[in-house]
Amino acid sequence: MNWLSNFIPPRIRSFVSEQKEVPDNLWQKCNACEGMLFHRDLANNHNVCYHCGHHLRLSVKSRLNMLFDGGEYESVELPKVAHDPLKFKDRKKYVDRIKEAQTKTNLKEAVTIARGKMGGLPVVFVAFNFRYMGGSMGAAVGEAIVKAAEIAVKDKAALIAVPASGGARMQEGMISLMQMPRSIIAVEMVKDAKLPYIVILTDPTTGGVSASFAMVGDIHIAEPGSMIGFAGRRVIEETVRETLPDDFQTAEYLLEHGMVDMVVERKEMRKTLVNLISIMTQQPATIDPDDNGGPKGGKSSESAPANTNAKAEASENGQKASTQAKAALKAVQNISQNVEDVKGHGAAQAAGA
Ligand SMILES: [Zn+2]
Repeated sequence: MNWLSNFIPPRIRSFVSEQKEVPDNLWQKCNACEGMLFHRDLANNHNVCYHCGHHLRLSVKSRLNMLFDGGEYESVELPKVAHDPLKFKDRKKYVDRIKEAQTKTNLKEAVTIARGKMGGLPVVFVAFNFRYMGGSMGAAVGEAIVKAAEIAVKDKAALIAVPASGGARMQEGMISLMQMPRSIIAVEMVKDAKLPYIVILTDPTTGGVSASFAMVGDIHIAEPGSMIGFAGRRVIEETVRETLPDDFQTAEYLLEHGMVDMVVERKEMRKTLVNLISIMTQQPATIDPDDNGGPKGGKSSESAPANTNAKAEASENGQKASTQAKAALKAVQNISQNVEDVKGHGAAQAAGA
């Protein structure tokens, strides 16, 4: 922020102050190992560092391309809500912040609803775009989650939520907080219809989002290294007056402590999801999960060398797929076991009382 940005209207300001979002050149530095990454190689590797395996943030568009059969899906129009119901203003007007975010991301809101097929099975996605006001959950986002759930019930499809969010949208105050119970009710509709509700926890999933629909999935899958938590680390440390472990609030830590069922690498995500949906809906996948070559476009010259290893990779993938399926099955069994335990516990308590 400099003296100039105080005098220019938001639409133009977005060009002046958001230039850091545009990479200076075709190379990018990995946040974890500081290795240099060429933009095309990085895109071909689903935005995963090819030196150390660090998962960089992935746009919703690339993620959906990577996951749906043939990268094809239908974007569903978001429901309309009242913008800026509180006429909120901090340093900037909320309406101006919305305009800026829309210009920057070319999106209407912080979520995208997409409907399509995975392994030939119907799936509805509701995915967060973190670049849009930190993926914060306001009325529009809550409404979108409700709509996605309704479509899933109507299509008899699995609902997959992909949160990437800083939490509630403070500019909408109480209305933003009301989206927490609303989103819970929405995903309960899907569960009542006996359809799978899966959450892919990505970096970062925090605040009101982690305290609502993101933590009530039938299955929680997390991307490696994602930051997942409610309050920030410093706040917790100051409250409990203890030093927290280094890996606190990471996907791996939560897996160890039972908040997450699986930590799955991006390249294995599609296969894992297809296996899970197939097991949970008791329907066989009609399209091989390996069929999707990942994000489309800009890789025609790169795809040739990959094909030479195709056979070796295929057999390896086959083995991996069966391991994945076993892991998925185990996760499902664990969950049903937990449900039984809880039921048993409830019955025992009832008997005791
Ligand atoms: Zn790296």
